[in-house]
This record gives sequence, C-alpha cells and structure tokens, in this order.
Amino acid sequence: MGKCPNCGSKGLFLKTVACRICGKEGCTNCSTYLFAVPLKKEAWYCHTTPCFELFVKKVTDNISPEDMQQSLYARRLPVYGFIHKTIGWDNQIENPNPELFKRLTVEAENIRDALRANKSRT
Ligand SMILES: [Zn+2]
Ligand SMILES: [Zn+2]
Repeated sequence: MGKCPNCGSKGLFLKTVACRICGKEGCTNCSTYLFAVPLKKEAWYCHTTPCFELFVKKVTDNISPEDMQQSLYARRLPVYGFIHKTIGWDNQIENPNPELFKRLTVEAENIRDALRANKSRT
C-alpha cells in the first residue's frame, strides 16, 4: 500500500507524482494537474498553490515583446506556444488544466494590453 509523502493519503492504487516546480512528491489527490505531454506519456502536476503561481509566473516572464508582436491584434493568444517556450518545444502539451489556461490567457492579455498602450503612445 502506498502513502503520499505530502498529504498522507493511503491507498492501494495511490499514484505519486513529482511537483514540476519544486520537485516534491505528492499524490494525484493533493496535487494540481497542469497538462499532459502525450509524446512522453506524462502528465505534469504541481503540488501547492504557490507552485502553481510560480509556474504561471515562469511562463508569463518568458513572453517577450517579440513573441507578442505577431499576436498584437489577434483574437486568440498562442497560450500553448507560450507554455512550450518555457517547458521546451519537444514537450508538446495536451489537455491543459482549464484554470491554468485561463490564468495564462489573462496574464498574456495584460502583457499585450501594456504593449498596445506603449505603441499608441509613441
Ligand atoms: Zn511544488
Ligand atoms: Zn497527497
């Protein structure tokens, strides 16, 4: 029988996963699913809200003005692309956590709005 080192959950089929941000072990009950990487047959998790926020920050910090230039007036922002840029292009993701996707969209839109405002000022 397995026991989760993070929340103490016990179960015969308990699946432990490493947090992709800090590396701590947790289980699928106490960790937050981020997305799947089908080519590597992996699912990425993080285990706390601060780790989730750190991941969001990592991705948004990585968005350069050049990245945004092409989508400055596009209806949809290439959120998948922003994630790939951070975690590596060989980690093609699928089924992102809707909450994560929403957060990254909002953050990216903020960056874009700032860029647009900057543009109209010059
Ligand atoms: Zn963590
Ligand atoms: Zn757990």
